Amino acid sequence: MPITANNPKRKTWIETTPNTDFPIQNIPFGVFLTRDDIITIGTRIGDTAIDLGALHQLGYFKGIPLTDDIFLQDSLNDFISDGKKTWRLVRNRIADIFDETNETLKNNIEHRKIVLFALNEIEMQLPVSVGDYTDFYSSIEHATNVGKMFRDPDNALLPNWLHMPIGYHGRSSSIIPSGIPVHRPQGQKMINGEENPIFGPSRLVDFELEMAFITTDANHLGEPIPIEEAEDYIFGLVLFNDWSARDIQKWEYVPLGPFLGKSFASSMSPWIVTLDALEPYRVAGPKPIKEQFPYLQYSGKKSFDINLEVAIQPENAVETVVGKTNFKYMYWNMAQQLAHHTVNGCPINSGDMMGSGTISGPTEDSFGSMLELSWRGEKPVQLNEGGSRKFIEDNDTVIMRGHCEKNGIRIGFGEVASKLLPVFKK
Ligand code: MN
Repeated sequence: MPITANNPKRKTWIETTPNTDFPIQNIPFGVFLTRDDIITIGTRIGDTAIDLGALHQLGYFKGIPLTDDIFLQDSLNDFISDGKKTWRLVRNRIADIFDETNETLKNNIEHRKIVLFALNEIEMQLPVSVGDYTDFYSSIEHATNVGKMFRDPDNALLPNWLHMPIGYHGRSSSIIPSGIPVHRPQGQKMINGEENPIFGPSRLVDFELEMAFITTDANHLGEPIPIEEAEDYIFGLVLFNDWSARDIQKWEYVPLGPFLGKSFASSMSPWIVTLDALEPYRVAGPKPIKEQFPYLQYSGKKSFDINLEVAIQPENAVETVVGKTNFKYMYWNMAQQLAHHTVNGCPINSGDMMGSGTISGPTEDSFGSMLELSWRGEKPVQLNEGGSRKFIEDNDTVIMRGHCEKNGIRIGFGEVASKLLPVFKK
């Protein structure tokens, strides 16, 4: 089925600015509270939020097999379960409703009042109820940098890294939407040269600049997903700040991997940009350095050209962009991650979330964590209004943004912004 929603020539009757992340070609999905305190599934064109629950009740999705309450939910999970064909039909229909040549809703003032909202009239919620959250470690630049710092500069990559997408199972309970602040965690830390660990606030709170993808129900227990089918089960992507406490992480991670240094919070952008909307931005990925097993071999372009940046904004100060990178640098792509995740027969459900791992680029200004940008704190990062940062300080806000751009069409993710508060006190 063609993705008519992506037509680059299409214009909309909704007012938009030329540089918006949300032109009519985007049509992301999210969940919001309306000015009447009703929770609904919605989309967004420019700075106008659109209540899909209301649109459906008014009959605008006639002919598409949808249950009556599919958009009157507090999460996208059921809609995501409906599968790729339905997502496509709905995006195509939304594009049609808001096309500048379609006057049905455009000329219906009553319906417009019910369906359209200004952004300051709504409050974005977590778009999915995340069942399981897996975090990968798929940037070769990031894995190499961390290996150089913590292990052996001459053998920075561990022997397994070039053979499979390394990952661990994270916590979904602490995944939060943009705007929710995060408390500095406490935990055990081992100070270099000491015999015993100490307990207290983490001194090395860091961001991880990641993207995450959200899946639909994909397979039954025991059934691996073939790599060429894997993308059919990916609904869309968000920006993802996988907060990390480096001192807690370093002391606890041997031998079972990350635990409390990671599970205190992960922040996501509220609008899920569909994989369909990202189709025009496919690019070839990095060439494999070592031959990969057949279940990880793929054809075609399975990487995406998404510009990413991260900024730090101290309280009452302007922000400083501290790193710029691109999703296309990922050594292992999403299809490989999903094929690997299920090769043992592990089931994937609607609303599962898979983090990419920190996305670092090849240059020193393209790293995706303060650990790398300040090189363990040895090279503080200068801020625009004076001062510097080795890691994140109390009351700093970390802001991540991402967008694709090609032939004059920009598809963006908006932002994920969250403030680090001091340690929680009762
Ligand atoms: Mn991570």
